[in-house]
Amino acid sequence: MNDCIFCRIVEGEIPSPRVYEDDKMIAINDVAPAAPVHVLLIPKKHTPNVMTAEAEIVAHMLSKVEEIATQLGIKEEGFRIVMNTGEKGGQTVDHLHIHLIGGKDLGWPPC
Ligand code: 5GP
Ligand code: ZN
Repeated sequence: MNDCIFCRIVEGEIPSPRVYEDDKMIAINDVAPAAPVHVLLIPKKHTPNVMTAEAEIVAHMLSKVEEIATQLGIKEEGFRIVMNTGEKGGQTVDHLHIHLIGGKDLGWPPC
């Protein structure tokens, strides 16, 4: 059994409503949102992080940000996309994902 939580969500073993879906990726609401809008863009094919991913899938996910941000009503006001990578980068799920966060004033720097 695949014990990767995002693979299980992609497979539908763990129910999670999809904000967006196509043949290569899904987008779901984060279970612990850091802001009023907090969506995770997740490729259907497992790969641990941005360094192991094929450039094409990263480009594909980024190409959908505008559409998803528009759908969520945060395109005009602005938002943040984040790829936490590795232990010190704060990555807790080792299946590539992009956080799309918005709906409030976001602070910077994030640490
Ligand atoms: P990371 O810390 O790896 O950058 O991001 C992982 C994100 O996945 C976290 O923001 C966490 O709240 C979210 N997450 C973990 N488990 C689940 C889950 O089962 N469902 C959903 N929707 N989000 C999850
Ligand atoms: Zn996975």
